[in-house]
Amino acid sequence: MLNQFLVVVDGQRLSKMLIREFISQSNKNQIISNLLKHYKVESVKVKQKSMKDHAHFNVDTGTLELSTKYKIIKKSQVKDFLITILHEINHAIDSKKYGWKKFKEMYEMEMNLMVAKDKDPYKDNKYEIQAEDFGQKNWKKWYEIFKKQDLF
Ligand SMILES: [Zn+2]
Repeated sequence: MLNQFLVVVDGQRLSKMLIREFISQSNKNQIISNLLKHYKVESVKVKQKSMKDHAHFNVDTGTLELSTKYKIIKKSQVKDFLITILHEINHAIDSKKYGWKKFKEMYEMEMNLMVAKDKDPYKDNKYEIQAEDFGQKNWKKWYEIFKKQDLF
């Protein structure tokens, strides 16, 4: 009852609340394009796809896949979103540096090496460890930058 009353008398406050709890699709797209530009990987192929994770770099095709599942994201998902995007961008940086076909070979070789050593082809993969480090080390910095730019 009290909530309904607030809606009626204070529509403005409510809309502000909604804006702060969610990141709009256009702000989300802005964040992604700023990151791609900053890390100079705008030339990497991008594909929209319905999937569980926010983003995925497809090593087999050299394509950065972005999820269409989360048109808007909740504030509680921002950290995970930024880490995932940065992680995948790190793969895109390598893919650009070596050329995607060469990078695919390098990545597969690393997977085979891990299997031969009885290790996990993903979790123990040096490219995965490096990409995850990159995401963990940089997400906070971007969080502050995008917050200052009023993107969330
Ligand atoms: Zn990865």
